Amino acid sequence: MDIGEAKLLFSRVPKEKLGFFPTPFHKLNRLSEELDVNLYIKRDDFTGIGLFGGNKIRKLQYLMADAKAKGCEYVFTYGAVQSNHAMQTVTACRRCGLKPVLYLVSIVKPDEHDVRSNLLLDKILGAEIHIIEESGIDTEILEERSIELAKEHMRKLEVEGHKCYDIPMGGASYIGTAGFIEGFAEMMEQAAEEGFVPDYVFHGTGTGGTAAGLVAGRNLIESRTKIISINVSYKPESFSDKMAVLSNNALEYIGAKPCVKADDFMFDLNYYAPGYEIPNVGASSAIKRLAMNEGIIIDPVYTGKAFYGLLDYIESGKIAKGSNVVFWHTGGATALFAEKEILGELY
Ligand SMILES: *Cc1c(COP(=O)(O)O)cnc(C)c1O
Repeated sequence: MDIGEAKLLFSRVPKEKLGFFPTPFHKLNRLSEELDVNLYIKRDDFTGIGLFGGNKIRKLQYLMADAKAKGCEYVFTYGAVQSNHAMQTVTACRRCGLKPVLYLVSIVKPDEHDVRSNLLLDKILGAEIHIIEESGIDTEILEERSIELAKEHMRKLEVEGHKCYDIPMGGASYIGTAGFIEGFAEMMEQAAEEGFVPDYVFHGTGTGGTAAGLVAGRNLIESRTKIISINVSYKPESFSDKMAVLSNNALEYIGAKPCVKADDFMFDLNYYAPGYEIPNVGASSAIKRLAMNEGIIIDPVYTGKAFYGLLDYIESGKIAKGSNVVFWHTGGATALFAEKEILGELY
């Protein structure tokens, strides 16, 4: 189907209007010339609701609508202590009059006398915050524990007659993912107005909801655009199968036919080392390069690693000169004001 038909599907899906859409889309002239490609940027760092927006607001528009339709009072979600998703969920809850409860896993230990970045915003916004920490224990195990503890908490509230809405890490449910099907159509319309079809879209991928939505959107409108999802943390090979299920469930949710297969995804694990929330030299230099050439700020955890991947694909010749390349800025610059272990060598 064409972009107009895809957009029409969304008129029937319950949505809570949050933030500012469409987000800006523009060319990066100086870097385009330097790299010999047409490089554009999709500014989801400007989604709102406040100054510190990002990609999760697209998902939260659909998640908040579902929570309200179900008559929920509390919203639970998960992430790292400096989670962008958690912070954006809290802002969305406040906007919708829902009570936010966070179960956060400590990867980099916060200093309670010097609270920073997203955790500071969560506190200003008055979220109920539970931090799960224990040194020497795998992040995955801590994440499982945070989910168990939250489930127990929700059971208690439900017994007392309070309805709770449970949002998975990153908002990566099929309902949240629908937001990025819409996002893809929005960007393609902007590209068409500029008179081109993107050959490549690059973005950072964590829980995968963004990738699942973009790929579903791409397949839905039968576009030839390649979506390169740069991982910011380790994922097993089976991840693509999981993501195809997520894409197809999201397509069914908006009333479209499932049309995504595992090999429609292009995940790239080559740019995140040594790990999630641990900076690397390539990402630091990518952050500096975008800042110095275009005055645009990206972050060490997600967008810096994604932009590092984009630059490497272009400069190593994996992408032909003259290609139309879109970098999806997913937000996250608050990480620059987090604990210095997260920051990396930027000055
Ligand atoms: C969450 C996040 C991502 C990754 O999105 P997923 O849908 O979880 O894959 C990318 N960039 C930033 C800044 C994020 O906060």
